Amino acid sequence: MPDRLGKLGHIGIAVSDLEEAKKLYGEVLGFTLTKEMEMPERGLKVAFFETGNTKIELLEGTTPESNITKYIEKRGTGIHHLSFEVDDIRRVMKELADDGVRLIDQEPRTGAEGHLTTFMHPKSTLGVLLEIEEE
Ligand code: ZN
Repeated sequence: MPDRLGKLGHIGIAVSDLEEAKKLYGEVLGFTLTKEMEMPERGLKVAFFETGNTKIELLEGTTPESNITKYIEKRGTGIHHLSFEVDDIRRVMKELADDGVRLIDQEPRTGAEGHLTTFMHPKSTLGVLLEIEEE
């Protein structure tokens, strides 16, 4: 079987204070800040950092309804999701669904980096929130 998912695109980390997290990743750990944005419609502030070929997405919830705010209330700050690159997100979504993986959205949405993205439900992936992102 050909690879369904490509390489690990980024690791998503839920933080309660993006400025504090930016200091840790930027100044202490020496990652490079590559992108930063607010997504008010999803109640999110996001910053991307890179080191070597590893990318980290720091996510802070800005409203009580934000998925990240709710996640932190339940499970605390920390690793939130792993994102894998795919060539054709709609094809992979169909293959996953055919193999019994529950997807959170039936249609891909546009993610923080402007790529099509979707998430698998952690109940069908042994408790890990997995994202796929079309490159
Ligand atoms: Zn992500």
